[in-house]
Amino acid sequence: MKLAVIEGDGIGREVIPAAVKVLDAFGLELEKVPLELGYTRWEKTGTAMSSDDLETIKGCDAVLFGAVTTVPDPSYKSILLTIRKELDLYANIRPIKPLPGITGVTGRSDFDFIIVRENAEGLYSGIEEIGPEFSWTKRIITRKGSERIAEYACKLAKGRKKRLIIVHKSNVLKSDKLFLDICRQTAAARGVEYEDMLIDSMAYSLMMHPERYDIVVTTNLFGDILSDMCAALVGSLGLVPSANIGDKYAFFEPVHGSAPDIAGKGIANPLAAILCVKMLLEWMGEARFQIIDEAIAHVLQQKIITPDLGGTASTMEVGNAVAEYVRKNL
Ligand code: ATP
Ligand code: MG
Repeated sequence: MKLAVIEGDGIGREVIPAAVKVLDAFGLELEKVPLELGYTRWEKTGTAMSSDDLETIKGCDAVLFGAVTTVPDPSYKSILLTIRKELDLYANIRPIKPLPGITGVTGRSDFDFIIVRENAEGLYSGIEEIGPEFSWTKRIITRKGSERIAEYACKLAKGRKKRLIIVHKSNVLKSDKLFLDICRQTAAARGVEYEDMLIDSMAYSLMMHPERYDIVVTTNLFGDILSDMCAALVGSLGLVPSANIGDKYAFFEPVHGSAPDIAGKGIANPLAAILCVKMLLEWMGEARFQIIDEAIAHVLQQKIITPDLGGTASTMEVGNAVAEYVRKNL
C-alpha cells in the first residue's frame, strides 16, 4: 500500500503532520510518498502540480491531502479538480456525526448520517459558454454515473441502517428523473429501503430533523451545498472529514481549506484531518479504525482542544494525544 501525502498550503502543513502521527501509531506496513503541491510550490517553481506529480500520485493507492490555496494565475487549473478527474473519484463521502460534547448551530447531537455526493458529472460538467448577455452550463446525468453512485450509496446503507434518501429536483430539472429512477431501481435491487426528497425540502429537513437520516445520495451541486451546510450541524469546518472515492483510488481531505488567517500559528484544529485518517483506514480494510473515535472522545474529555473549540492546545498537542491513546489502546 502506497499513500501519497500532500500537505499543500496554509494549515494543511500543520494538520496533516498531526494526522500522520495518528496514522503512524497504527504501525502499518505502508509507504508514504510526500509530495509538495499547491501555492507554496507554485511560488517556488512556477507550477502548482506537474504531470510527473500526477504520475507519482497514480502510482499510489490513496492520497491524504491537506488543503491548497488557489493560485492567482488565470491559467491555473484546480489541482483538486484535476486529481478528481484523473483518478476518476466519482463518490464524495461526508460523514456528518457530532463529536462528544460538541454541538453545532442546532445544539443537538442525536444524528449520524452520511452524504454521498456524485462527484463526476451533474452541473459540474465543465461544458459551458460564458457571454456578457447569455451564459449556460450543461447539466449531465448519465446512466453509468448514476448507477455507480447509487451502488456505492447502497453498499454503505447495507452496512448501516439500510435506509437511503435520494435527493433530487426532478419536478423542475427533468434530467434528475433519470438519476431518481436509477437510484430507486438500484436500491430495490439491493434490498435497501428508500425514499426520495426534493432538495429544497431536504435542506430544511436536515436542519430540523437530522436524526431521521442515514444515507443521503444526491447529484453533484446539491451534494456540494448540503454537505457544507451539514458541517454547521457538527459545529465547525475544522471537524469534518471527507473522502473522494473511485473504483481504484481514494483521496481523503478535511472539508476546511487552507485558512490563511490562522496558518503558521500552530493552532489549527487537526480533528478533521485525523478523521480523514480514520476514513482511510476503513477504506484500507483496517479493522481497528474505530479506535480513532475513542481516542478523540478521550482527548476532548481531557480538554486537549484547540482555540476554535475554546481550548489552548496546539495542533501537534492534539495530534500527539490522539496518537498516544491509539498506541496504548490498540
Ligand atoms: P481557502 O481559500 O483555502 O478555502 P479559507 O480562507 O476559505 O481558505 P477555510 O479553511 O475554508 O478558509 O476556513 C474558513 C475559516 O474557518 C478560517 O478563516 C478559519 O479561521 C476557520 N477554520 C477552518 N479550518 C479550521 C481548523 N482546522 N481549525 C480552526 N479553524 C479553522
Ligand atoms: Mg474555503
